[in-house]
Amino acid sequence: MLTIKRVATLVSINQELEQAAGCGKDCLGSCCMPGAKLPLYTFGRRRSVDLLKKKMAVACSTNDGDNGFLDSLLLAQWEDRMDKGLFRYDVTACETMVLPGEHGFIAQLNEGRHSKKRPTEFRVDQVLQPFDGKKFNFTKVGQEEVLFCFEESEDGTSQYYEKAPVSWSPNVIAINVSPIEYGHVLLIPCVLDCTPQRIDPDTFLLALQMAVEADNPYFRLGYNSLGAFATINHLHFQAYYLAAPFPVERAPTTLICHRWKKGGVKILELGNFPVRGLVFEVGDSLEDLANAVANTCIYLQNANIPFNVLIADRGGRVFVFPQCFAERQARGEVEQEILDTQVNPAVWEISGHIVLKRRLDYESATEESAWRLLAEVSLTQERFDEVKKHCLKSVFNAPNKVKVEMPTMDSSLHLMGMSGVALNGQSEHCLVLQV
Ligand SMILES: [Zn+2]
Repeated sequence: MLTIKRVATLVSINQELEQAAGCGKDCLGSCCMPGAKLPLYTFGRRRSVDLLKKKMAVACSTNDGDNGFLDSLLLAQWEDRMDKGLFRYDVTACETMVLPGEHGFIAQLNEGRHSKKRPTEFRVDQVLQPFDGKKFNFTKVGQEEVLFCFEESEDGTSQYYEKAPVSWSPNVIAINVSPIEYGHVLLIPCVLDCTPQRIDPDTFLLALQMAVEADNPYFRLGYNSLGAFATINHLHFQAYYLAAPFPVERAPTTLICHRWKKGGVKILELGNFPVRGLVFEVGDSLEDLANAVANTCIYLQNANIPFNVLIADRGGRVFVFPQCFAERQARGEVEQEILDTQVNPAVWEISGHIVLKRRLDYESATEESAWRLLAEVSLTQERFDEVKKHCLKSVFNAPNKVKVEMPTMDSSLHLMGMSGVALNGQSEHCLVLQV
C-alpha cells in the first residue's frame, strides 16, 4: 500500500467540529434534510448548443459581460456568505501574479489554506474507493454553506426560488470555506446518495450544465480523482472565477480524431505544455460531450490511473489529464525541492494556476519552476501514448452510456473485478467477481 502523509485542506466549517448525535447543526445529512427549505435554481436542458458554439467562435477567453442568471446569483450568494464570515480567510487579499514568459502561468500566495489539523494518512494508490460514512463527507456540511440546490426543471426553463422544499438527495452548490479564488464553490451531485468520488455520464453532464448556465468564460469547473489530490471521497466538482485565461487554454492542440459518432465531439492532444493531456470539444450536443469524456474517465478509473479534469469555455471544452505525481512521490522519485513547497498539483495547478503556500516559493516563482513542478505530474510520452490508445478505444467502443459500478465492501477486491466488465455492459454483477 502506498501512503503519503498530507496536510488536509478544510473545505467545510463542520469538518473541524465533532458531529453530535442527533445533529442539531442544520446539516445536509438525512437527519436535517427532510422538511428543510433551501434556495433552488432550476435549469432547462439545452439540447441545442448553437449558443454555446457561437460564443466559442467569438472568443473563448474573453468575457462579453452577457452572462447567465446563475452567474450573478452565484456571486451574490457567495458574497453574502463572505459577509457572514463563513470563510476561513479573505481570499481577495491573497497576492497573485502572472509569471513572465510565453505560457503565462499564474502564481498565488495562499498562506491561509494550511490546515492546523493533524496530517491525515490516506491511500493514494486507489482511484476508486468505497464511500466511508465515518470520514468527513458533504452530508456533514452546514446548510448555511449552501448557496442553492441545482436541479433540472420540468418545463425546460431556468427559474430561481428563494425557498423550496428540498427534493430527496438534491444537487447542492456550496461554498468552499478554503477558497482558492473569488466565487470558489463545490458542486455536490445528489448529496444524500453518498456516491464516492468517481465520474459517470450523468453527473458529468450536470457539471457541464452548470458551466453552460453560468455562461461566463472566467468560470471553470474542475475535478480531481482520488490519487490526484481529491481530499474527500464524496462525489464533488470544484468551480471558481479567474479573470484570465488558464495557460492550458492557450496551449496548442493537435486533432486526434474528429466527429465521434454522430455527436461530432472533437478529440485533440495538448502540445507544448508540461502535463500531457486530452482535449474534448463539444459538437452537436452536451450529452455527447459528457459521454465521450465520462467514458474516458471511466477507463482511467477502472485502470486505476489518477486524473484531473478541467471544464472550460462555458462547458464547450474539457481537458483530461492522467497523472502520476502521487505515485512518483510515494516511490521517492520527486525532487525534494518540489516536495518542500507542499504544493499539491491538482486540477488548478495543472491548468496553470499555481497556489503556493510559502512566501519564499511565491517570491522566487518563475516560469521554469512552474514547468518543473508540473512536469513531475505528467505521464511520460510513452505511457501517455499507451493510455491515450485505451482512452480512445473506450470512447469509440463503449455504448453511449457506460454504467459505473462501485464496490460497497472491500475495495482491494475491486480492481480485479472491473477490468473490461463495466465496459461490456454486464456491470450489474461485478461484485460477484470478488473471488
Ligand atoms: Zn444534521
